Amino acid sequence: MRPFTMNIVDDMRGQNIIALEHAKRDNRKVVGMYCAFAPQELALAAGAIPVSLCGTKHGPVTAAEKILPRNLCPLIKSSFGFAITDTCPYFRFSDIIVAETTCDGKKKMFELLKEYKPIHMMQLPQGTDRPYAVAWWVKELEILKEWLEESLGVEITRANLREAIKLCNREREVLKRLHEMNRLDPAPLTGLDMLAAIWMKGFNVEKENGINLVSQLIDEIQEIADKRQSPFQPGTPRVLLTGCPVSIGSEKVVRLVEECGGAVVCFESCSGIKTMKNLVDEDEEKEPLQAIAECYLKIPCSVMTPNPGRFELLGQLISDYQVDGVIDLTWQACHTYIIEDVNIRNFVRDRFGISTIQLETDYSDSDLEQLKTRISAFIEMISV
Ligand code: SF4
Ligand code: SF4
Repeated sequence: MRPFTMNIVDDMRGQNIIALEHAKRDNRKVVGMYCAFAPQELALAAGAIPVSLCGTKHGPVTAAEKILPRNLCPLIKSSFGFAITDTCPYFRFSDIIVAETTCDGKKKMFELLKEYKPIHMMQLPQGTDRPYAVAWWVKELEILKEWLEESLGVEITRANLREAIKLCNREREVLKRLHEMNRLDPAPLTGLDMLAAIWMKGFNVEKENGINLVSQLIDEIQEIADKRQSPFQPGTPRVLLTGCPVSIGSEKVVRLVEECGGAVVCFESCSGIKTMKNLVDEDEEKEPLQAIAECYLKIPCSVMTPNPGRFELLGQLISDYQVDGVIDLTWQACHTYIIEDVNIRNFVRDRFGISTIQLETDYSDSDLEQLKTRISAFIEMISV
């Protein structure tokens, strides 16, 4: 039983490109962003449209490999490939780009990307255990604010920042509510549809439209759940996907899990709950940049060391979503996630006694059969 609203979600990507074209014709500015640490609120407060430029498809990887090393994470190669082949309308429409020093591959790729678009690099602290980490990030936000004002010829006011904070918080809240629908057993939405609905957030020219559409989807899912309908049979093994970000185009593991008889009910990665769980403090007394910095630094990404937040979040999600197994998906050559996997799997096994598996792959279809064999054995194991 697929909600009708998912058809509208499917059409949104094409419509968003048309809307972006119109917005550009009306002289709106577009700010490209690659990472969950990029503060969308500042772009919105500058009157610009923030868009996600994270590459999710294998297509442009070959072009990227002519310049970048082959043994690099596919997300970086895909992102770079889209840029140099001019095949991503969102990159083409971006006036400027906000980048961050997250993993080594990405930050060095950004140095090459400077040839194609004006880029501002934010220096992200490498951990949050130092007392000055938040102050550091506030300073980076101040520098970014000045750069945006200069590049876009606008003033970012406190009032505009407050408005942007509220808008982004409402988007986070509605997406979190959507994601939490799959706490129900059996889950009312497939993992693939959940991914598609969440992914859309990076491309909405008007965030308000995206918020309304997700609300409509939640209402429809609630009706489906009330009728005790689900795309899954009762007893379908429930899987939590953690690790590197996945999106439409790089969804092969999600697809395989569901083809092999499982249900992906929870996305812990930054394409899922990781970026929705915390809200920016809306307290009028608080400096907006301070509030933004505090919220974004809570994102438990493996580029941070130590990264205790990921373990806390994972533990919470395993209980909340009553999962039977955890898949840690790591893109090839993503050193931070691959190395963190050791502790993640020990934590899941020792603390919760449930099965877990690491899958390391890229964006190509070359290992589909091999992945299918491993996933199918995993689903069989957690079914009993
Ligand atoms: S996994 Fe980390 S580095 Fe990658 S997009 Fe998410 S927050 Fe950014
Ligand atoms: S998946 Fe890993 S290697 Fe790739 S961009 Fe994200 S953190 Fe970097």
